[in-house]
Amino acid sequence: MLRPVLLVSLASVAFAGSSGAQMSDSMWPIPAGAYAGRVVAINSNLAVRKGSAFLRLSKLKGDKRFVAWNPSRLPALVAFRPGRAISADDSAAFWMILMRMEADIGMRLFEPATVSPGSDPGDVIVVDTRSMPGDDGRTYLTWSNDAGVYDARVFFGSRAILHSQRIVTHEMMHALGFGHTSAWSSIMNSGADAPVSLTLEDVAYAQYAFDSRSSSERHDMWERVALANDRETGSVTRMDRLPCRTSPFNVLAGISDCVAESYFTGAIGASGTSH
Ligand SMILES: [Zn+2]
Repeated sequence: MLRPVLLVSLASVAFAGSSGAQMSDSMWPIPAGAYAGRVVAINSNLAVRKGSAFLRLSKLKGDKRFVAWNPSRLPALVAFRPGRAISADDSAAFWMILMRMEADIGMRLFEPATVSPGSDPGDVIVVDTRSMPGDDGRTYLTWSNDAGVYDARVFFGSRAILHSQRIVTHEMMHALGFGHTSAWSSIMNSGADAPVSLTLEDVAYAQYAFDSRSSSERHDMWERVALANDRETGSVTRMDRLPCRTSPFNVLAGISDCVAESYFTGAIGASGTSH
């Protein structure tokens, strides 16, 4: 009966990691990537304020969560929409930019994939080109109540824009779940004078959001496990009400407690109907 002990230890880990501290300020020591070793003061109020929300929030049962891919789903699959005449050069330039994002953030974020014509899988970031007068890039994203993202659809105004580090990085950050900010110098500043790559603060806040989502995932996992445990406890309780009898099946199974006896008694009774 090791399972209850295991559950208790998981619970303490989960609640320590998701204590609802997302809104409070903290220091973020950057663990990996281009700025590894730097420490950034996280002001999540600044990052989620109206009109400047690098970190978007979704509420689940009063629990505020940052909109982003769950780290367990990363790297996210990225595919070009078929039939857009993306050349090998276009693809290589695009993927060089994505690899630079990964190197800056210090995480594996993207994985190349293909989608067949007409298919629209929700768990793939689909990159498309279309003429958008006055707009170089546009990203559509959906997120669920728990702020996990899906149906990321990224559009660039032309194939040439697949070579633009600033625009590709900006749109792919949207595809990961992040919004615009004017709170710091950021790839997510709107306007043409934005930096061309991820800044120190961009990396810190992105890592902070993924780390927070990782805690939320542990919390979600604990909730699932806890429900399963409730059901299990319920069935054990029912079986406990059965009379505890000596049974040869206990000896055969090598199990001596009443719950196991009830189970085996029931199982034998059920199999008996097939005689
Ligand atoms: Zn944007």
